[in-house]
Amino acid sequence: MRLLRFARNDNVVIMVRYFKPETLSEVLSLLADKDTRFPLLAGGTDLIVQWRMGGRWPSGIVDIGALEEIRLIIQRDNVIEIGAAVTHSMLIESHIVRRYCPVLVDACKTVGAVQIQNRGTIGGNIVNASPAGDTPPVLLAFDALVELASLSGRRHIPLREFYLSYRKTALKPDEILTRIIIPKHIPEEKAGFYKIGTRKAQAISKVALCARAKITGGVIDDIAIALGSVAPTVVRAPKTETFLKGKKLDSSIIDEAKTKLSAEVVPIDDIRSTADYRRFVAGGLLGRFLSDIS
Ligand SMILES: Cc1cc2nc3c(=O)[nH]c(=O)nc-3n(C[C@H](O)[C@H](O)[C@H](O)COP(=O)(O)OP(=O)(O)OC[C@H]3O[C@@H](n4cnc5c(N)ncnc54)[C@H](O)[C@@H]3O)c2cc1C
Repeated sequence: MRLLRFARNDNVVIMVRYFKPETLSEVLSLLADKDTRFPLLAGGTDLIVQWRMGGRWPSGIVDIGALEEIRLIIQRDNVIEIGAAVTHSMLIESHIVRRYCPVLVDACKTVGAVQIQNRGTIGGNIVNASPAGDTPPVLLAFDALVELASLSGRRHIPLREFYLSYRKTALKPDEILTRIIIPKHIPEEKAGFYKIGTRKAQAISKVALCARAKITGGVIDDIAIALGSVAPTVVRAPKTETFLKGKKLDSSIIDEAKTKLSAEVVPIDDIRSTADYRRFVAGGLLGRFLSDIS
């Protein structure tokens, strides 16, 4: 443990206890003890910004950014496993992710700029729980599982059960997100990631959509649609998915699906956009995906 000096925005210098454990079991022990249960810092691209913007600085930090055990990308028979401390740049470069979940690469390429991609991690993106995060819609569309670990053991839950409400997750105070498990993309399936922001780079999304679909003879056998920035959490669109299953794709079905999705999402007005615009764009992005795959 070391003591770090930070200058707050009001120029008051504060001392923060800084832990940099070398193993996952050390992290779990720190989290199990209420006296050392400090925020986990991965890349710090959300956390440090939040503290600097006036959030409450903690009296300690547990730095997990360099923890090798959760910086691995592994492929197994039907899934790929991504360690929580894997950065967006590592995902973009990974031949495993490029091959078995290429839309995740597309999403990571839209996160901030290269400096943010080099530091920001997939675990931080998930646990930060912003409805505007770029990787969660992909993981939700792919029915990913998250692995949460504590000294009591490991548990696996679907990402769709991880988000409870606006910025609230199922992560317990003594738990760390260790891995994300994603079913491999199968060649018969088409997938796409689309993001609308104010600019091409350094822009948080106004709306993001990831969809994947299996089509036989022009008919949709199965489809998953996930969206960001249209609700308090990232969400799936079950009504629109049900409507599309078994339908033959043509322009009138695509138009109907766009209208259904615009009606299904419940966005809000905020500084980045209006609810009406977001509804319209969500439908438009689905239309783009359906046109791309038909
Ligand atoms: C200029 C700028 C542009 C950005 N642009 C985008 C963008 O376009 N799209 C986007 O999605 N995001 C964007 N972000 C947000 C941020 O970069 C991402 O969310 C990033 O992935 C966060 O990862 P991190 O490792 O830096 O998280 P950190 O800041 O280290 O942590 C974020 C939260 O997750 C928790 N945490 C981290 N890892 C774990 C773990 N393994 N287990 C449990 N809890 C954990 C931390 O305690 C904290 O609460 C931007 C940020 C900046 C500053």
